[in-house]
Amino acid sequence: MAEQSAEPPRGERPAPRGDRPTRPKTDHSGRRGGGPLDRLVDSFAGLPGIGRKSAERLAHHLLQMPLADALAFAEAIRGVREDLRSCAVCFNLGEEDRCAICRDPRRDATTICVVERVRDLLALEEAGGYRGLYHVLQGRLSPLAGVGPERLSIEPLVTRVRDGGVREVIMGTTPNVEGDATALAVAQRLAGLPITITKLARGLTVGAALEQANRDMLADAMAGRQPF
Ligand SMILES: [Zn+2]
Repeated sequence: MAEQSAEPPRGERPAPRGDRPTRPKTDHSGRRGGGPLDRLVDSFAGLPGIGRKSAERLAHHLLQMPLADALAFAEAIRGVREDLRSCAVCFNLGEEDRCAICRDPRRDATTICVVERVRDLLALEEAGGYRGLYHVLQGRLSPLAGVGPERLSIEPLVTRVRDGGVREVIMGTTPNVEGDATALAVAQRLAGLPITITKLARGLTVGAALEQANRDMLADAMAGRQPF
């Protein structure tokens, strides 16, 4: 709590995590600890894969950007958190109750491709060729990380299929142990329903996330899908 004894500059609140035992730093403004630059560095450093040094580099880069670009960056962050929501049907992201894909009447509503993350959906869309709908599970089973089936949107998928009109469900989970276990759990919940369950062809490198596969590989995997 030593930092709290330092008088915060007028009009500034102390950083939310300012009571962490970090050593006080001097930012470009000459203030020590808890200033705007420190808060920005802390924010970057809280992102996955960003160490303290990278966080400092990014923060200083933002400082040197034209003001309009920096504010557009801030607005983009605000937008994704305040304007985007999960689609009520497929859990894709969108700005309305139902996402653009679910609202598109040209999409084939008889086919649903099950993916783990919105990023996977975007990769498949980027690859092109697929005209069906999606279902985003919002993760994959991971016993070690405490992610059980109840944490995934499996039951809403079962409801979608039960409601009728679906003929094929394609498993597009990551081709690794956890992704396969997830697909199996989903398939077990769908067992007995009058649908065909298929999976993406394994042209994909085992273990590679869909988002890391190139477009042609993804398009081939979709076109060459096999019985699950
Ligand atoms: Zn949707």
